[in-house]
Amino acid sequence: MTAPRPLIAGNWKMNGLAASLAEAKAVAAGLGDTAARVALCPSATLVAQMAWTLKDSAVLVGGQDCHAQASGAHTGDVAAEQLADAGAKLVIVGHSERRADHGETDAAVAAKTLAALRAGLEPIVCVGETLEQRKAGDTLAVVTGQVRGSLPAELAGKAFSVAYEPVWAIGTGLTPTTPEIEDVHRAIRATLTELFGEAGRAVPILYGGSVKPSNAVEILHADEVGGALVGGASLKADDFLGIIRAL
Ligand code: PEP
Repeated sequence: MTAPRPLIAGNWKMNGLAASLAEAKAVAAGLGDTAARVALCPSATLVAQMAWTLKDSAVLVGGQDCHAQASGAHTGDVAAEQLADAGAKLVIVGHSERRADHGETDAAVAAKTLAALRAGLEPIVCVGETLEQRKAGDTLAVVTGQVRGSLPAELAGKAFSVAYEPVWAIGTGLTPTTPEIEDVHRAIRATLTELFGEAGRAVPILYGGSVKPSNAVEILHADEVGGALVGGASLKADDFLGIIRAL
């Protein structure tokens, strides 16, 4: 089975105004030859403009979350179909900030993942342990449990990725050691092959949590790391390009 192209996705979170599209343009302009698939996931307000801005580039646009329903009385939510209509190709689901701020369970994340598939979007499904869970020695059980609970069987044969993001590493400047990352990624890989057979070997497993140009080479070359989900360092084109070039 051929190895999938690594995916480097930027999560702008609740940052960015129309003027920030200049950074997206600079990413596209500076991309050059890269082995990576590159995506930027801005707030819903910017998806359509960014997709238009990047339409002739190799940079894909993604959403940060979607509702499980295709439409309806859900004030303030965004349907996967609306993201696709605005030009998104991917969508992040189950980010730990959504799990924590909005009480999203694995079942809710699985429903959102299904919604993404229904709309033709490629889901990036996030999992990761809290510091308390790591200290208790529960990391592998928590993360593999989230993988089982958040990935519906309908993903078989579809393009998707899993992002391992330790909650305590997000936005903190802290990162697990490379062997710690590899342990978790190997456990996720084993779970993916259990769930999806041989096809589970081709699913990119991204690492996320304080990735920056200075640690990207080591992280991106670790065993079973198939790319990165990048928060803060994706807001500035130079930093994001530095990570992409680390591949
Ligand atoms: C994220 O929000 O997915 C993330 C990894 O953030 P940061 O890179 O800022 O830690």
